[in-house]
Amino acid sequence: MDETEVTQRSKSVATKEGLMTEDTTLISTSTGIKTKTKRRLYTWDEIPEWQRDNEHIRSGYVSETKSLKECFCSLFYLHNESVNIYTHFLPGLCFLGVVLFDNYAIKKYDTTTWIDYAMIDFFFLGGFTCLMMSSLFHCLKCHSIEVATFGNKLDYLGIVALVVSSMVSLLYYGFHDNKPYFFTFSGLTVLFGACCTVASLKERFRSREWRAYRAALFVAFGLSALLPVIAGLIRYGFEETCARIQLKWIVLEGIFYITGAVLYGTRFPECLSPGIFDIWGNSHQIFHVLVVVAALCHLKALLRTYELVHSTGLGTHSF
Ligand SMILES: [Zn+2]
Repeated sequence: MDETEVTQRSKSVATKEGLMTEDTTLISTSTGIKTKTKRRLYTWDEIPEWQRDNEHIRSGYVSETKSLKECFCSLFYLHNESVNIYTHFLPGLCFLGVVLFDNYAIKKYDTTTWIDYAMIDFFFLGGFTCLMMSSLFHCLKCHSIEVATFGNKLDYLGIVALVVSSMVSLLYYGFHDNKPYFFTFSGLTVLFGACCTVASLKERFRSREWRAYRAALFVAFGLSALLPVIAGLIRYGFEETCARIQLKWIVLEGIFYITGAVLYGTRFPECLSPGIFDIWGNSHQIFHVLVVVAALCHLKALLRTYELVHSTGLGTHSF
């Protein structure tokens, strides 16, 4: 290092949570100009207790900023939430793009009406809400415990929006000629969604003792997707149900969601090599990618059922 001289200065700062190291680096260039840069990334041992969630992620943390500006500035450098932010932010923008330009993005049939656009856009808006809430949460979770808690609620709300919009839009085409089935299963989905929203937002249900019930409620919400499939199999038989809701894509969607949830729960692969997957390739990042892939499988199923309903002359909906 002949042209620049780097001086590290460590200062211990007493905080509520204990001692935190605040490092500054003085860089003296050959021109004699000294620039002071604040250290941006911290290790597991240096961040406040409330920020600690996954002990296998050892470094790359943006420590509590208490500043929205600093949180948004973190979008422009690499840290251990960067991949989580962008894996949902960029697909979220694409989802919004389809809503804004649905006239070009969605194939038009003679029988296509505004309800078709509304139903398909409903799915895209649900996906957009989920992906944006998630990326916002990951961007702001380094602000403070209060903002992180609020962001976490938004993250849950986003999941509810995605599930409800996915289910209702597909049920509309799957049961396009069966009004009672459509309203029964859509109503059930909305009811479950409302319960999950309350469970996510109300402080009382967010407490530790309600944790198991809350998890059970979300699992039940996910499993309720099986009910219209079973009803379809009984009413229409295997082959017709496969066509009506494009079952193979829905099964694939389920596999991606479940794989993502298992990785999320087991914290694989970082549990095998703590510190190796801090920035790239940890379980939460893979989970994020699998959520997007699963949503794309759902989209494929939705567009195929839409095309099937209109191309086979069943385009005049019974409602
Ligand atoms: Zn996430």
